[in-house]
Amino acid sequence: MKYQITIGWLYQDLMNTYGDRGNVICLKKRCEWRNIDCNIIELNIGFNKEELKKCDLLFMGGAQDRQQRIVTKDIKGEKSKIIKKMIDDDKVPGLFICGAYQFLGNYYKEADGKIIECLEILDLYTESPKKNKKRLIGNIALKSNLFEGEPYTLIGFENHGGSTYLGKNLKPLGKVMTGYGNNGEDNTEGVIFNNIIGTYLHGPILPKNPLLADFLIRAALKRKYKNGILEKLNDKLEIKARKAIANKLGVEL
Ligand code: GLN
Repeated sequence: MKYQITIGWLYQDLMNTYGDRGNVICLKKRCEWRNIDCNIIELNIGFNKEELKKCDLLFMGGAQDRQQRIVTKDIKGEKSKIIKKMIDDDKVPGLFICGAYQFLGNYYKEADGKIIECLEILDLYTESPKKNKKRLIGNIALKSNLFEGEPYTLIGFENHGGSTYLGKNLKPLGKVMTGYGNNGEDNTEGVIFNNIIGTYLHGPILPKNPLLADFLIRAALKRKYKNGILEKLNDKLEIKARKAIANKLGVEL
């Protein structure tokens, strides 16, 4: 039997910055290299909420505050309720980057104090810095225990104004080795809840961290077919690229 997964790409036209679309390309390729069909549904403003029910994996990239405000209007209500149920009860895997990660929380406070409503799926919140405080920009590396076996170094690039704070019952994706992460204060980066990952890492993150891409594909297949065994791929190039970045950042892989 040929396996098949459907990726729901939320607001790809508005929420897509610093190479985030590369994540979807990476997921598709890593499926195809294993002879798994990968279908992508673009869920743009005005999409029919029923489309969400077809999705085995969700992806949403980052954006600036203006786009986040536009998307809020479309996603609040029924769509957000369905997404919450998918994440909480159905354990659908997903990757939410930067502005999309902020969306998962309780609220996002802009620099002028205005509140952008969020999905209230995870107990976290984001606040923009007061005037004159710098944005959190640069290459970033973190250690994550997400994967069975040795802790894995995740590498990416961050560029955000907002600082995110996790509620006490939430687990971060990893511990910052270099860079800022969630807020530049508590050494945490991102969040992991059920099979959902929120993170500030652009890059795009998945080609730079193939284990993370496979974590998402495996979770999708496990849910759908009760079988998450993935054929090993030749990641020689990816490993070489990771080494080069790690050397540049002065961190160990
Ligand atoms: N608007 C958000 C911030 O600056 C998100 C930025 C992004 O997604 N790159 O904090």
